[in-house]
Amino acid sequence: MHYLSTRDRTLHFTAAEAIKQGLSRDGGLFLPEMLPALSARQIKAMESMSYQERAVEIMSLFLEDYSREELRAFADAAYSPEKFDDPAVAPVRSLDAATHSLELWHGPTSAFKDMALQMLPHLLYASLKKTGEEKTACILVATSGDTGKAALEGFRDVDHTKIMVFYPKDGVSEIQKLQMVTQEGSNVSVYAVLGNFDDAQTGVKRIFSDEAIRAQLLERGYFLSSANSINWGRVLPQVVYYVSVCCDLVRDGKLKEGEKVNLCVPTGNFGNILSAYYAKCMGAPIGRLICASNRNDVLTEFLRTGVYDRNRPFYTTMSPSMDILISSNLERLLYALSDGNDAEVRSYMKQLNAEGRYQVSDTVLAKVRKLFWAGSCGEEDTVDTIRRYYTQRNYLMDTHTAVAAHVLEQYRAESGDGGPAVIVSTASPYKFCSPVLRAIGAVPAGDGVELIAQLQEATGVKAPWRLAELGGKAVRFTESTEKHAMEQVVLDYLN
Ligand SMILES: *Cc1c(COP(=O)(O)O)cnc(C)c1O
Repeated sequence: MHYLSTRDRTLHFTAAEAIKQGLSRDGGLFLPEMLPALSARQIKAMESMSYQERAVEIMSLFLEDYSREELRAFADAAYSPEKFDDPAVAPVRSLDAATHSLELWHGPTSAFKDMALQMLPHLLYASLKKTGEEKTACILVATSGDTGKAALEGFRDVDHTKIMVFYPKDGVSEIQKLQMVTQEGSNVSVYAVLGNFDDAQTGVKRIFSDEAIRAQLLERGYFLSSANSINWGRVLPQVVYYVSVCCDLVRDGKLKEGEKVNLCVPTGNFGNILSAYYAKCMGAPIGRLICASNRNDVLTEFLRTGVYDRNRPFYTTMSPSMDILISSNLERLLYALSDGNDAEVRSYMKQLNAEGRYQVSDTVLAKVRKLFWAGSCGEEDTVDTIRRYYTQRNYLMDTHTAVAAHVLEQYRAESGDGGPAVIVSTASPYKFCSPVLRAIGAVPAGDGVELIAQLQEATGVKAPWRLAELGGKAVRFTESTEKHAMEQVVLDYLN
């Protein structure tokens, strides 16, 4: 199986090349030429497997240039008990007979990004060997909070890699900042950018497309790569937990043979829900894909009307990982739903670039509406949802998960479909202590680490130990940079 670009289907790459490069030179995203199918028998057989074994079964279908033994070793290392504090890795909690929460935040940084960013470094490191690459990969990351820490933790001390993370100085939560500036490892560095997330992201993109810098770095033995969700090596590990949750629900008698489960995913860059779409296409018993947005509802409008329009106000919300107006991974969905029409994808992306807006064909829209349902949730409803689930069901959720829980309620009320559904839970409530405390009726008092103790005291829900121990860690990174000086920061670090 080869990989191609969403903007040029005649290009052929191996999986290792696609993962090493991250983004195609034509600006498109890498995709496998076709999606492998899972038979009902294969899915049945996975019911009795561990999460690690399921990961090997699914990933090996896509990664022909990696052996099963390699993938087994990667899965064992990535999802080990030292990394994940739940033996199920991605446990499912049932909130009522038809509503389940898939908890994807039991990894080292307490957000779902770990599910892929614990695996990606193994895939990337192996891809360097497979492609005969002798240079060191320098991973540049712009983060609004969760990706940066998860990437740092995944790449720390991985041979032949260095990682540089840029976060907006005043744009991340206190806990998120503390997590990053105390990062351990000999190949890591972290900088605050004097600006917002867009400034950091624009800076990173500028460096990526600067041929002079690339040439200078090559001379010094480095090439640039990406750990953002445009990398296929991040999308693929996410397919695993969607097949896995179906296996668990069937095994535990919560999903009957022949029945399908609806999935409600809190969405930003469209990477997580795209993986759910792939799992559905491969044959997992998945029904509606419900896309949940916060006040930044560009995707809600798109999935309902076929018009993608980023010309709208940007809101800073209490679910910051979903504060995004350009959902990069949508491009992969457009490729699939236009039956691999790369010219059509190019034209949409060109319009997005030039006017910030495009409208898909009626054919594509009809498919979108059959597969997806979309809704958005404002700030008050987010708080109200956390409060209700806590007081009525004794379940504590973070702000992103609450957006999904609320949108699932909207879907059920509007469609009348009360069938089995999974709320995809993307972060520990302890990453967003202030809004969660306020939601359960407490007044947040103190700094980041004190808030963790306060939330634990108030709820009796145990905080993830790595977050609880943050207070005792030495701060290693205090540097900040003007947004225009990011190039120099990279050149200085890689000297
Ligand atoms: C990144 C993130 C999201 C959004 O996921 P996408 O793949 O970008 O759609 C949602 N919730 C949390 C907590 C996240 O960190």
